[in-house]
Amino acid sequence: MATRPARTAKTTAAKVAAPRRTASKTASVRAAKPMTTSKPATTKKAVPAKAVTTGKAVKAVKATKAVKAVKAVKAVKATKAVKATKAAASAKAVKATKAAASAKAVPAPAAQREREARAKAAAKEREAKAKVVAAVKAEREREAKAKALAKEREAKAKAKAAAAATAQREREAKVKAAAAAKAQRERDAKAKAAAAAKEREAKAKAAAAAKAQRERDAKAKAAAKEREAKAKAKAKAAAVAKVQREKAAVEAKRLRDADAKRRAVEAERLRKERELERRNQEELKRQERRELEEQRRRDEIERKMHSKPYADDPVFLAELHDLLVEAQRVTRAQIELLENAVDDLLEGRERPEYDEEDGSSAGSDFDRDQLKMQLDGERLKNDLIVVALGRVADGSYGRCDTCFEPIGRARLQAQVPVFTCVTCRANG
Ligand SMILES: [Zn+2]
Repeated sequence: MATRPARTAKTTAAKVAAPRRTASKTASVRAAKPMTTSKPATTKKAVPAKAVTTGKAVKAVKATKAVKAVKAVKAVKATKAVKATKAAASAKAVKATKAAASAKAVPAPAAQREREARAKAAAKEREAKAKVVAAVKAEREREAKAKALAKEREAKAKAKAAAAATAQREREAKVKAAAAAKAQRERDAKAKAAAAAKEREAKAKAAAAAKAQRERDAKAKAAAKEREAKAKAKAKAAAVAKVQREKAAVEAKRLRDADAKRRAVEAERLRKERELERRNQEELKRQERRELEEQRRRDEIERKMHSKPYADDPVFLAELHDLLVEAQRVTRAQIELLENAVDDLLEGRERPEYDEEDGSSAGSDFDRDQLKMQLDGERLKNDLIVVALGRVADGSYGRCDTCFEPIGRARLQAQVPVFTCVTCRANG
């Protein structure tokens, strides 16, 4: 029985050791982290383990002692009761046998005596029997009493034992409760310590995390700054590139425009050249046509100019010749007359009585101019008649000097000389 508490102590120790192991485990886990709290945890756990063990052992010892006592009391009581009953029975039996023997031992003088003796014996026997019965009865009553007593004692003992057991249980419960409370306190303390450690750890973790976060933030900031700088540089480069591109585009556009303009100008120039060429060609063609036409016209004119409309009619030509000669005679006479008149006028002006102041000679000046004009006309007419006579001689007279068409016979006969047809004369 002494090993039991030890075992339980061992098991409890083992049980306690298990959490310690886990504690050391967590401690080892924690050791990897910046803050270590394993040492205080292990030292604190060792003390409550021992306390629990001793408390339990005491309880167990007490319980076993109480049970033993109760059992012993019961056993003693039972054996006493049995012994008493047996002793009483044997005593009664001995007495009865003695009585019977003594009754039978009485001598019988006669039949009477025998009978008396027998009656006496029978009475004695009856008495003895009654005594035995009474003794048995008394014995039974005693036994019953003893039994009742024993029962009572047993009940009392049981009650005592029960009370003791209850008390023991209560004590045990108390001890257990105390132990549980202690264990609870220890657990609480442990939990507190663990919580504190956890908190410290959490704090340390948080601090580390915060530090890491700050570092990350700083890094991120630096990276962001760098990125920003890069982006700025990129943007600047992009802007420069854009400006360059735009410049290049503008330049290219300018070049393209210039090229297009140049090409357009060239095309226009070519077009104009072609147009000019075409016009020149057309003009040339027209010129050729005109020249041809002109040539034809000139040929025609030439033909007409050299035409002799009345060459095949010598009688008519002779008539015209006569008319011209007559007209020449009249014209020459007129010229002579006019020349004389003019001479007269000139002679009159040279006279001394001629007065320029009063303008009396104005009329004579007018007359002289009129005469001169008339004279010029007659002289021209005479010249024309000479030309006409020459044409009559070569047979070309009677042809219009403007259109080279023949002049009508009536016109030739009516007007002497004449060099244009009626139509040309009308057109001026
Ligand atoms: Zn004419």
